[in-house]
Amino acid sequence: MLLDAYAIIDEGVAVAVKAEEDELNAKLACREGCDNCCRFQGDIPLYPLELIGISWFATEKMTGLRRATLKKQLAGHGEGNPCPFLISGSCSIHLLRPVACRQFNVFYEPCDEGEDPYFTRRDDVLTPMQNYTDRAFSAMLPFYGIPDDADETRAVKNIIQTQALNLQSFDWKNLVKIMEDFDSRNSES
Ligand code: SF4
Ligand code: SF4
Repeated sequence: MLLDAYAIIDEGVAVAVKAEEDELNAKLACREGCDNCCRFQGDIPLYPLELIGISWFATEKMTGLRRATLKKQLAGHGEGNPCPFLISGSCSIHLLRPVACRQFNVFYEPCDEGEDPYFTRRDDVLTPMQNYTDRAFSAMLPFYGIPDDADETRAVKNIIQTQALNLQSFDWKNLVKIMEDFDSRNSES
């Protein structure tokens, strides 16, 4: 469900970026290693199914030094810190990063340190295509227990309005415990 939703989101972002590039001759500034958004954005919506995806990936797929670094960052995460999943300038959960991160794209100039381009230059920030966002959240509806015959548009709107957590203010210590329990079980077997 989550991967289906992310595939729809990624397709929508690609379509929206291409449209801006073609129509406005805009050039995407986002690139690998550009991490000011991950260091300074304090409001990153995170939905419950996304939390499960991230928790699974961190617990069962991350290994070695990155795992140790992530556990340390999650345990010490507090207000005003960079995103705890940012390791050495890149997203350690890239495949499972939330919709909000996937859709946050900026044209022309990379963001400055501490800049929130939503406020400094809104026109340079990609506006995601609503129909793709709606389709992606529709793909996640079964997770929220929404029956097949429900009003899909209303259900999607309701999920978006009522279920969002904030990645940056979320208490990640429980994930550290889950990761440590997983480590203990594996070292015993
Ligand atoms: S949103 Fe800004 S800081 Fe983040 S990758 Fe794009 S240009 Fe760089
Ligand atoms: S989840 Fe990844 S992409 Fe999103 S803010 Fe954190 S490090 Fe950046």
